[in-house]
Amino acid sequence: MRDIFAIFGDPVSHSKSPLMHNLTFRGLEYDGCYGRYRLIDGERLKEKFLQLGLKGINITVPHKEHAYRACDTLDPFAMRVGAVNTIVDRGGRLHGYNTDAPGFLRAISEYTDAKDILLLGAGGTAKSISAILSDEGYDITIVNRGSERLKSFRDDGFKVYTFDDFVPSSYDLIINMTSAGLQDESLPAPKEILEAIVPSAKACVDVIYGKETPFLRLAKSHNRPTKDGSDMLLYQGIIAFQHFTDYRYSFEEIERYMKRAFVD
Ligand code: NDP
Repeated sequence: MRDIFAIFGDPVSHSKSPLMHNLTFRGLEYDGCYGRYRLIDGERLKEKFLQLGLKGINITVPHKEHAYRACDTLDPFAMRVGAVNTIVDRGGRLHGYNTDAPGFLRAISEYTDAKDILLLGAGGTAKSISAILSDEGYDITIVNRGSERLKSFRDDGFKVYTFDDFVPSSYDLIINMTSAGLQDESLPAPKEILEAIVPSAKACVDVIYGKETPFLRLAKSHNRPTKDGSDMLLYQGIIAFQHFTDYRYSFEEIERYMKRAFVD
């Protein structure tokens, strides 16, 4: 029987995930199909999952915490960070994973000599990524616009600042984890702060994909190497596909087809 998958979120119309996964099902001759479902009320995630007879889903904004709560079993990393972006039904039990963080880690693996990382933003994505980066031994500093979201990061032992008390220093990588620049043309931090740290960074990375953000434009104006969120999207998708298909395919086998979704 054909396995049906979907992306749940609001909005979901822009998502590349259906293309990524359907190209891979076809390439690997796996009998699967992947659609999109606009879920408005996150509390109904499990009910909708079961009603639609799905084998698995990815979850995007704003439902990753609802997804976490909907699972019967969580892998240890998803449990620790409290956010799930991949669910698989195994024998009637919903298993939850977070593939954003390992996907991001792989996306920055090319920066082999990076050690000090500045994260701009303290939302859900920063939460899971800061955890995996710290596990990997990176030295993490977090700067956020508001102070509220910084509390849990401070409790986890990170160095945290708002724009008001941040003292610029030198960083190997500066990463935009805010949604600034996603649907507007704003920078993730005041220009004076960015001008003080970007010129000395080894590279600037954005998790936003599909457009050149004002942050990456500023980095380019200082001749800094840049990277957008496309590789992160691809890699989180490959790892999700491995969970969906019960680890039948290697990362490289999946990558061969999934990356075709990124050809212009
Ligand atoms: P959240 O809503 O959880 O957090 C948003 C963060 O952005 C907060 O820290 C918020 O600060 C900050 N922020 C929002 N607007 C501005 C602004 N104008 N100036 C400065 N800071 C701002 O979002 P997520 O963590 O879920 O997502 C963050 C980004 O990551 C999104 O752009 C999303 O598209 C992207 N993403 C990319 C993925 C990929 O595969 N490439 C995967 C997952 C996410 P404050 O606390 O002050 O409100």
